Parts: sequence; structure tokens; C-alpha cells
Amino acid sequence: MKKYIIQTYGCQMNEHDSEKISYTLEGAGYTYTDHLEEADFILLNTCIVRENAEHKVLGQLGALKHLKQKKPDLIIAVSGCMMQTGKARDIIRDKYRHVDIIFGTKNIDDLPYILNEYFQTGEPVLAIEEEMDLGEDETHVIRGSKHKAYISIAYGCDNYCSYCIVPYARGREISREPGRIIEEARILAEEGYKEITLLGQNVNSYGKTLRYPIRFPELLEELNKIDGLSRIRFMTSHPKDLSDELIDAMGRLDHVCEHFHLPVQSGSDAILKRMNRKYTRDQYMELVRKLREAVPGIALSTDIIVGFPGETEADFLQTLDLVKQAEFDAGFTFIYSPRPGTPAARMEEQVPKEIVSDRFQRLVDEMYAIYLRKNRARIGTTMEVLVDGTSKTDTAVLTGRTRTHHLVHFPGEPTMIGQLVDVRITGATSFTLEGEQV
Ligand code: SF4
Repeated sequence: MKKYIIQTYGCQMNEHDSEKISYTLEGAGYTYTDHLEEADFILLNTCIVRENAEHKVLGQLGALKHLKQKKPDLIIAVSGCMMQTGKARDIIRDKYRHVDIIFGTKNIDDLPYILNEYFQTGEPVLAIEEEMDLGEDETHVIRGSKHKAYISIAYGCDNYCSYCIVPYARGREISREPGRIIEEARILAEEGYKEITLLGQNVNSYGKTLRYPIRFPELLEELNKIDGLSRIRFMTSHPKDLSDELIDAMGRLDHVCEHFHLPVQSGSDAILKRMNRKYTRDQYMELVRKLREAVPGIALSTDIIVGFPGETEADFLQTLDLVKQAEFDAGFTFIYSPRPGTPAARMEEQVPKEIVSDRFQRLVDEMYAIYLRKNRARIGTTMEVLVDGTSKTDTAVLTGRTRTHHLVHFPGEPTMIGQLVDVRITGATSFTLEGEQV
């Protein structure tokens, strides 16, 4: 039996793409392995959003050259966002000649034909489509979990934030038909899935490309009616498209989880303008206020970029101040990395590395202290946990997520994996809660 492995870089969209690719590979007779050395087919599903992820892919491809020399029948394939931009693709095609198959984010449905061509000719195959075809059947997926599932609701992005390569790599925003999304969710519920996460670069603007447009809150409303689905999540949201209707739906719909990931990126209006984010700090804080008012106990998480071109100490202090006011429960903090081809990469006033490192450290210190204080305040409360698995270091300890997306560890049996369990919180760090089953 031939074996395959997929190494996925980047976001949940890529993870879900890898689940679709698994379906085709298993249909072609491959079985999954965790071990690179055992694999007959190695796929790197790449990300281009940060320079770091790109370097990791190129480093891994360099290492795979030796494996291919030892095992000439090994097939090495590369897919994902990096392949949608000419420069990175050309580097791989020209300098990593041991790569057999290259395909883009819009060619996942074509993979059976791509494999066929490779097996017929034995020649390298390059398949890059620029336009998204939404005729695909999204139920053709080997999911990584038996109780939690991703559902793509939209692809691409129209926002052109000045630092971001996604609109160039993933293309213009396009929404899936609501009927297909609802059907997919219904099938998942029938199969016993308890939680779905709706995916899109900007789910808040869902529907605008449809022939009969519906808006995101209406889609949530329909999904909330499906029996058996206990939890509905979504990501990512753009603050400029977060409507009062969505906030109202969050407060009303009982299966929609009390967690909102709302990337702020900066607390300075001047920097937000240079980022082309199309909202101000005050508008963002107003959304925070409305969400906290409409959804009691809601957890807010965010993304923040430190060291955007032109960021002064005063701009950075505005970000620190916003973080204190918003009291985020979690967040992803990034050091700005220029992405060739984006407007920000051409901006002057790139901030020196040592200044950025210092600001980054001050920011994470502040954020981690807030997480810790908020997590400690949860000690003594009872929270519903969807059990994901056992701890990597101790199989007698289970791990799972609350509706607010907090990670919880508690003692329990592996038979509880996939179940919703009430857990009393007994301890806290900045990133995890500990507890015991009630
Ligand atoms: S909203 Fe902005 S940051 Fe998000 S994917 Fe679109 S362009 Fe990139």
C-alpha cells in the first residue's frame, strides 16, 4: 500500500484544502502516514502570507532532495498560495527540480487529472488556474476530526490591505451558494459532527457575489436551525463589515459560539490608514463595546502587526493602549514582514529590526498579562468543553475547547473524545485552563 503525507503551512483555509487533497489521494490508493521517510507521495501545502512560512517551505524542499535521491520513485508535490504567485512558483520550478507536481489553490478539484497526467508521462506537471470554479463537491473531504469540521463559505478577498498578499494569491472574493453550505452542514450533523467552523478571508461580507445575495447573519440563522449541531464558529472577520445584524445574531442564535476573532492590526489611526483597513480605532472600539453588550461572556481575539512601515513610538503606544482597553482573551501578534508585490513593501520608513523586536516584546508582555488575569477570573466557573483528544504528554489528561475557544486540560478517559463535557475550572495560565469534570 502506498503512503502519503501532507505538510500544511498557514491558516485554516489551507488545512481544509489539505483535507480535500487527502480525499483525492486516498481515492488514488494512498494511505496516510505521519512519517516522512515512509511516504511515497509528499505534498507541501504552502502559505505566502509571511516571509517565514515561505522560508520554511524552501528549507523543507531542500531537505527533501536527499530523500528523493535515496528513493527515486518518491513523488514530491507543492500546492497552496505560494504557487499562485509567479515569483515563488518560478523559484521552485527552476531551482528545485526534484519537485514533480506543482498545483495552485484553484486546481484542487483537478488533482485526479493532474495525478493521471503525471503517472502517464512521468514528466513534471504544472497546473495553475487563475479563476476559481465553484462547481466542486465540498463533501469530498477526509476530515482531520470526527466531531469538528471546516466548511468553506467564501474564497478570495477584495480588501487589498496594503501589507497582504492574499488578494493576489487567492483572487477576488467569491461566495459559495448558501444551499450547498447548509446541505454540507446538515450532512455533517447527521454524521455526528458537533461543531462547524465557517471559513473565508472575510466571512462578514459573505454573499455579496451571489446572484440572489443573502447576508452572513441570515446564513448563520439557517445553520442555527440544523438539529445536532451544537456549535457554530467562523473566521475571519473584517471590522469594516461587522454589521449590527451580525452582532444581534451572535446574541440571539444559541449555537453560535461566544467567541469573535476580530483582527485590529493596529491601534493607531495613521497606521490603520496606511494599512488600508478602512476603519478607525474608535470604530473598532465601538464594535468591541457592542459585542460585549450583546453577547455576555463573549471572548474576543485579534491579530496585531508590529513594526508596520512608518509606525512611530506614539503609534505603537496607541496599539498598547487599545489592547488594554479591549482586554482581548487571545491574539496573534506578528512582526511586519514585507511581501513583495504589496503596496506596503514599497513604502519607505521601514522600521529598524531592533525597534520592532522591542515593541513586539512589550506588546506580548502586556497581552499575556491580560490573558492571565482574565483566565484566573474563570477559576471556580463551569464551562462546556468539546473534547478534542488526549494531551501529548499525558494520555490520562484530555484537551478540548470551550465555546469561548479557551483551551482546557482535565483528567478523563479517551472514550470522552468528541463529547461535550461540563468542566469546573481549577487553574489557569495565560493560554490554558485546567479543570475537573463536573
Ligand atoms: S481582509 Fe486584508 S488581511 Fe484579510 S485577507 Fe483580505 S487583504 Fe488580507
